[in-house]
Amino acid sequence: MTRIAIARCSKLHDYEESVRRAGGEPWVLDLATDRAADVVARASGILLTGGGDIEPSLYGEAPHPTFAAAEAGRDAYEIELVRRALEADVPVFAICRGVQVLNVARGGTLIQDIPSQVASALQHKREGAADPAFTLAHEVWLEPGSRLELLMRDTLTDIESCQVNSRHHQAIKSTGEGLVTVATAPDGIIEAVEDPSRRFCLGVQWHPENFYRTGEFRALFEEFVRAATR
Ligand code: MN
Repeated sequence: MTRIAIARCSKLHDYEESVRRAGGEPWVLDLATDRAADVVARASGILLTGGGDIEPSLYGEAPHPTFAAAEAGRDAYEIELVRRALEADVPVFAICRGVQVLNVARGGTLIQDIPSQVASALQHKREGAADPAFTLAHEVWLEPGSRLELLMRDTLTDIESCQVNSRHHQAIKSTGEGLVTVATAPDGIIEAVEDPSRRFCLGVQWHPENFYRTGEFRALFEEFVRAATR
């Protein structure tokens, strides 16, 4: 079995189900007992999940008034996890908060609050949506020839853009070392990055795991698990 380590968060179900349906075996981490070094040695892939904001001092900023911390210990643990995984070239798939962790781990910075800091931004978080998990909030433009675009090609009718669910108030500001922007919202917000030098290192700002039933983003999980299996 291909064991996929999953960073613990408050909404685990869809991440676990997405991994299972792609042929992986979910291993939900306990940051108190599963040391990052052991996880990277024992897991075939690392899935970083959604959650609260990263402590801004970790990328050299003072906190914005909207700062809402993640669970205690997650920042340091997940940053160590992703650094070790990339060093060992263990596949990494990073979702929502996860793409921000990936970016900060590589020395990148974040926009702390899109609505108050980005002029004419789209709504990246639909307040009051009946079912936010499935609300397609905006379009993203895919970078032609990127791994993300190649993976989405079979699913999409328009190969250069797709609709995504989106519920974030932060985003990547400057990209970290080795990371390339591969999807952008029409307002310029970075929605996905890759490290093309790694076996598999993809981060997306939206929530592909919520669509495990209908499969819009199944190709991303399948390629992640395939890369982890090799
Ligand atoms: Mn968005």
